[in-house]
Amino acid sequence: MDNLSETDMRIYEEELRGFLPRKLFDAHVHLFDGTCLKSGKQFAEKSVYRKFGCEFRIEQYLEWARQSLPEQEIHLNGFGQPSFISDLDASAVYSGRISDNRRFFGMALVSPKDTVEDVVRRVEANRLIGYKPYLNFVDWKDKRDITIHDMLPEEQMAAADAKGLAVVLHIPRDERLADPINQEQMVELCHRYPKAQIIFAHIGRAYYLKNVIGFLDGIAACPNAYVDTAMVNHEGVLEYTFRNFPRGRTLFGTDAPIAMLLGKSVEINNQYAYLMGEDYAIGSTIYDAGQAVRFTSFYYEQLRGIKLAAQRAGLSRDELENIFFNNADKLFRGIAERNYGDQ
Ligand SMILES: [Zn+2]
Repeated sequence: MDNLSETDMRIYEEELRGFLPRKLFDAHVHLFDGTCLKSGKQFAEKSVYRKFGCEFRIEQYLEWARQSLPEQEIHLNGFGQPSFISDLDASAVYSGRISDNRRFFGMALVSPKDTVEDVVRRVEANRLIGYKPYLNFVDWKDKRDITIHDMLPEEQMAAADAKGLAVVLHIPRDERLADPINQEQMVELCHRYPKAQIIFAHIGRAYYLKNVIGFLDGIAACPNAYVDTAMVNHEGVLEYTFRNFPRGRTLFGTDAPIAMLLGKSVEINNQYAYLMGEDYAIGSTIYDAGQAVRFTSFYYEQLRGIKLAAQRAGLSRDELENIFFNNADKLFRGIAERNYGDQ
């Protein structure tokens, strides 16, 4: 991977060094190697994974961190790349291979079409702490009409509940966190499966202020609901979350390796776009081909956003360390200990 630029070194020195705790737990990482992909399948031309050689192994993350976060120790929860080109069984094997259930944890990718036996086997055989469904695996209806319950069939959730597993959920629908059907089903899911630990990824995909304000109360009241901050660098969204969602159930996450790209998510007129400093497509992308500005990584922008939001919301040092590390460490270690005993 590229060497850290001088600008990035300066950002670390001036803005991050004195702020970051020594240990970071990244609760949302896409990790996989070549064995996890179906043979003959390829990533799209502008896929971010091409930057990393069509894989993102744990060593690549740790090497990036060695340069970019030189004083931090990274712990993480990794799962594969949820798409049709991934082999879900092989991805679970990889996640298991790199997990020690102490510092590194892993999840299985699941499709709603997988039988509950397949899901349980994928998790247990690899000593994983949960699973992650994927929107596009609901391929029997129009994307706009997909609901949370479509993504997470009853039997799979019952298994997660019985074992107290974590489920990382990227919620569907155009209105994301503000969608009334999502609002209802998010709370329903938490109530129906009280022992499953449900992590709403990307703060319910609320990347702009209007999408988050007023919409965290339902899940905030559910003791088994969590949010991860992956790819949210918006200090307003983060501040609102720190003020309105329990700080003991807020998990730092990045969406690495996407977070390693040069770019920033920006709010524009009650929408958001990814302003990109390099020519990869990650959703609503605007590529700065004319190099109007100099970028740093989404990762650093996320850390900056958390710093500013933490100051504004008045987070204590302890609360910050919980969000950056202890909350996820406690959650995932607990699941591993309950299911797999003393390692
Ligand atoms: Zn992700």
